[in-house]
Amino acid sequence: MATAWIPFLEGRYSPTLDMWPIEAKEFNRIYKFYENLREGKFTTTKCQKCGRVAYPPRVICPECYSDELEWIELPKKGKVIVVVEKWGGVPICYEPPLIDAWIDLGKDSPVRHILSRMINCPPESLKEGDEVQLAVFDVPAHPIELKKETIKAERVFFAFEPVKK
Ligand SMILES: [Zn+2]
Repeated sequence: MATAWIPFLEGRYSPTLDMWPIEAKEFNRIYKFYENLREGKFTTTKCQKCGRVAYPPRVICPECYSDELEWIELPKKGKVIVVVEKWGGVPICYEPPLIDAWIDLGKDSPVRHILSRMINCPPESLKEGDEVQLAVFDVPAHPIELKKETIKAERVFFAFEPVKK
């Protein structure tokens, strides 16, 4: 089922889970996060004043409220800590289960633990300790009103997937 103007991908993407549905520079101060994803980089923001690293990326430091932030890279691989498979109440566009995992990016990562959607893994296959990696994919372009025009903003989104053994 698809609503004409809502981009979604079968079982991979839902606008209801997208933190920032409009990625274009004109609308979004963290557009750099998506530009970096397109280049295969997983990034977040670090405050240049106090050094606080925040994930998800911010436009203002949650510690000192400075907006002087820089982009830093995070590891693109990690290990599963906990898996959550939701079989009920999953957002529209998804077939259950919706699989999320807490991922350990390693002790040297500026952000140690992240929560991510998992794709390309059958139900009940993912377990603690499994190695997972960043997966970036295109999302159907989102029509956006910009000055009196409607533009189609190209988009990407990400999840994590198991590293093939
Ligand atoms: Zn700060």
